[in-house]
Amino acid sequence: MADLSLRGLTKRFGDVVAVHDLTLTLASGELVALLGPSGCGKTTTLRMIAGFDVPTAGRILLGDRDVTEAPPEKRTCGMVFQHYALFPHLTVEQNVAFGLEMQGLGRPAIRRRVAEILDRVGLGGLGRRYPRQLSGGQQQRTALARALVINPGVLLLDEPLANLDAKLREEMRFYIRALQRELHITTLYVTHDQAEALVLADRVAVLMNGVLQQFGAPEEIYHRPQTAAVAAFIGVTNFLPGRVTARSGDRFVLETPAGVIRARGTADLREGMDAMLSVRPEHIELGGPDPGVSPDGINSVRGVVRERTFLGSLIDFRVDVGHGVLLRVQGRAAASQRAGDQVTVSFDSAAAWALPGREG
Ligand code: ATP
Repeated sequence: MADLSLRGLTKRFGDVVAVHDLTLTLASGELVALLGPSGCGKTTTLRMIAGFDVPTAGRILLGDRDVTEAPPEKRTCGMVFQHYALFPHLTVEQNVAFGLEMQGLGRPAIRRRVAEILDRVGLGGLGRRYPRQLSGGQQQRTALARALVINPGVLLLDEPLANLDAKLREEMRFYIRALQRELHITTLYVTHDQAEALVLADRVAVLMNGVLQQFGAPEEIYHRPQTAAVAAFIGVTNFLPGRVTARSGDRFVLETPAGVIRARGTADLREGMDAMLSVRPEHIELGGPDPGVSPDGINSVRGVVRERTFLGSLIDFRVDVGHGVLLRVQGRAAASQRAGDQVTVSFDSAAAWALPGREG
């Protein structure tokens, strides 16, 4: 399998810069999620890699082959789209065989390869059906089979699960992940769904307004976002504005409306700088009204519960810690605190993450 390298890839449509100077390398066999909000340039990036859009600037390398100017059929990219794009008048077998026929393979070889790949994606026995006779999940597997049967150098997936219901979508995430690992195929997976990106990817590339914000392992993106925009986009978080009053290595002390907070933070933060503190709701504990003596490294703040919402396995609390700051806290379903209760919220300094700037 080839690795895929994007170097300074840029695409302008008139005044709109859809993708700006994107440099990204996918290692051979790696699954990278290209994650970002609607309109951030994900599909445009995929279309340039597949050869459907011509970059304004930059290069695309598949292994050691520069394919920037190559026509789509010379790139050996397998593509799966949100809307499946199956031919309605062809059976499952014929849909899957299409790419091999284009390559001019002989009939017996085509039949063998199609049967193999249909078995692999769990569609053995359904080859004679038409797309309209399949469930959404089966249509998606057909689209996957069609992309994989040509032995592509890279697999490009554009929101492939967006049309499925929530339960099937979750099943398919694990299925695609397992299949991708088994086939060891270099894969770029476009999604705006951060949960999907975190579950599926070896690494996640977060794109906003056409600009790469951060590229790293899911844990890194989630726990150590480099900008407030990434922190806000990935999962749910609380932001507290503050000012850095001390720094020692990766340890910070911040003055915030909720008091002095100890935190970790990004490497570019310096003493005296404005900062945003990000604390995830699941990292905050709720305790009784008396904070007592906090153990070393634990931040404790007094507050009042304003709202309590039952979420099934969790209870979601909104806790007013003064100065107009409401913290969202997610506690165990057995948590007994009610609206109006005086509480202490506490969180480990290792779970408080300071970022430069003021924006969320
Ligand atoms: P979504 O998740 O909604 O599909 P996306 O992240 O895939 O969004 P793109 O489709 O890549 O975003 O679009 C990026 C930007 O480029 C958008 O502002 C879009 O309006 C613009 N754009 C895309 N294609 C064209 C085009 N053919 N002509 C003009 N502008 C375009």
